[in-house]
Amino acid sequence: MSEIRFDLAGKVAAITGGGGVLCGEMCRALAAHGVSVAVLDLRQDASDKIAGAIIDAGGKAVGVACDVLDKTSLSSAREVIEKKLGPVDILINGAGGNHAKGTTTKEQLEPQDLTASKNAEIVTFYDLDREGIDFVFDLNFLGTFLATQVLTRGMAERGSGVVVNISSMNAFTPLTKIPAYSAAKAAISNFTRWLAVHMAKVGVRVNAIAPGFFLTDQNRSLLVADNGSPTPRGGRIVDHTPLGRFGKPDDLTGALLWLVSDEASGFVTGTVVAVDGGFSAFSGV
Ligand code: NAD
Repeated sequence: MSEIRFDLAGKVAAITGGGGVLCGEMCRALAAHGVSVAVLDLRQDASDKIAGAIIDAGGKAVGVACDVLDKTSLSSAREVIEKKLGPVDILINGAGGNHAKGTTTKEQLEPQDLTASKNAEIVTFYDLDREGIDFVFDLNFLGTFLATQVLTRGMAERGSGVVVNISSMNAFTPLTKIPAYSAAKAAISNFTRWLAVHMAKVGVRVNAIAPGFFLTDQNRSLLVADNGSPTPRGGRIVDHTPLGRFGKPDDLTGALLWLVSDEASGFVTGTVVAVDGGFSAFSGV
């Protein structure tokens, strides 16, 4: 048996949503392994903060303001990356998230909800508006599709590169209340497989990571009470997670390093790797 040594030093990675919680950690992890990191985010301050911390720690990084829904913005970002770091070898499509306008109030529709007054403050499936659905689909699916078009062309031309999309465990089985987000992440998993097949002959591997429940600033108050104990929804999630806890951002690091390393995963393409404490494997019984 031969020893696997993987060396990512000198590679250039572009991470969309890199100013956020999970992808910010991915930026730091890649930089710690010698990767030059372009932190792409809609929020310039967030991308600069992550890039600054990497540089302070002795790594190489650049923060780039970029909207994944705007091809001109993506092309400008690519120019900045190529000038400051070099051609992109690794693309992580991490920009994503849900929107309150794509979320129902209740998990299941009940007969009385259909006749409830409009003032009842219940958002049913029938009340979800197109604006919320479009926002969620655009950010999660189109944002991955467009960023991949702009940032992988050089990889295809050079015959080598890696894409890691960020799906979710709700792509396997939809979560209640968030139909658009669940469907958009299912589209990401589907697109991952499509792209893996499409890009195989030009040497680009494409996989996805499907995180389970990770505590972030957006969901913390929904999942954990002020005293640190789980809320009712948070408790149900932990009960449904065989490993019995929420994820921590660095729980994703091992899967990420494996997928971006040709030495470690050179024969792996078209997979969606669940990093969810067993959530998607458990039927609940
Ligand atoms: P986050 O909100 O901390 O990070 C998302 C980042 O994307 C933010 O920094 C935001 O500014 C950026 N962004 C938003 N719109 C953008 C745009 N148009 N262009 C460029 N950047 C944009 O969220 P997170 O929890 O760290 O999630 C990161 C990824 O992981 C997302 O794709 C999310 O759907 C996915 N995910 C998260 C969880 C979880 O439990 N947190 C679970 C499964 C999947």
